[in-house]
Amino acid sequence: MRVRFWGVRGSIPCPGPTTVRYGGNTPCLELRLPDRDRLVIIDAGSGLRELGNALLGRDLARGPLVTQLFLTHTHWDHIMGFPFFVPIYIPGTRLTVYGPATYEDESLADIVGGQLTYRYFPVRQTDLAANIQYVHLREGRYDLGEGLVVSTKYLNHPVLCLGYRFEYRGLTLCTAYDTEPFANVFCTDPGDPAFDEAIAEEGARAAAEENARVEAFFAGADLLIYDAQYTREEYQASKRGWGHSPMDHAVAAARRAGVRRLALFHHEPLRTDDQLDAQAAIHASGPDDPGPEIFFAREGTEIDLATGS
Ligand SMILES: [Zn+2]
Ligand SMILES: [Zn+2]
Repeated sequence: MRVRFWGVRGSIPCPGPTTVRYGGNTPCLELRLPDRDRLVIIDAGSGLRELGNALLGRDLARGPLVTQLFLTHTHWDHIMGFPFFVPIYIPGTRLTVYGPATYEDESLADIVGGQLTYRYFPVRQTDLAANIQYVHLREGRYDLGEGLVVSTKYLNHPVLCLGYRFEYRGLTLCTAYDTEPFANVFCTDPGDPAFDEAIAEEGARAAAEENARVEAFFAGADLLIYDAQYTREEYQASKRGWGHSPMDHAVAAARRAGVRRLALFHHEPLRTDDQLDAQAAIHASGPDDPGPEIFFAREGTEIDLATGS
């Protein structure tokens, strides 16, 4: 399995001189099974536009594109690249879009394809040349054929958001974004009239169990791509409940879960390249550290999960 990062940024694209090294596009990952000539795409952020353009020269030269797109969730930064993915305008393209939908009365086709209405865009979904199918996913395990299996896990985010665990020939890629640690939702302040010790303890136990379930989900992964939008200080000061993790939580969770490599991901749009370098120095593993290799994801980086190169 090979993974390439086409977009690593959270919330909104932020091109410019201060983000040029890590990249300004929003989430999009390319997963390749080289021995099967198979392409799987994860998320349709603005990075999808450039992936589509690259496919024009590489894959389309060999015939119509057949691929699967897995959406972690339908927040705008994860679907905004879809209308700009050129293969959807090419006859013969077969695209299956998988993902969660939060509300029963909303379909993925409406949410994702609904960007293609004259209100927002000059082309309508019904005018697309590609054959596009939408598949709603819940928590579970799905056989994708040819030995590729994906498992899904609900994360902690304001809308339904799935972590993915792709397994193929003994190698594992996991995504765990957008998410933040589960926390006790009950009052924990003994001085507060609403405090109830038994309920507070139950809340703490429930949060710990959910966090353990998430860690079990990505245990032993060869590559874990984890939400790390905030520093600990930012998170504590004002970002709790926003659905994103502090970097040190991502690192600690990856260590506990025994992952091989950790890509810190979904960078805060205000974070400059120099600031990301500084955070990378803080969170890097030492040379004798038995823990995971840790890095901040950069646009354009490609990793072979077998070799790490
Ligand atoms: Zn996001
Ligand atoms: Zn989100």
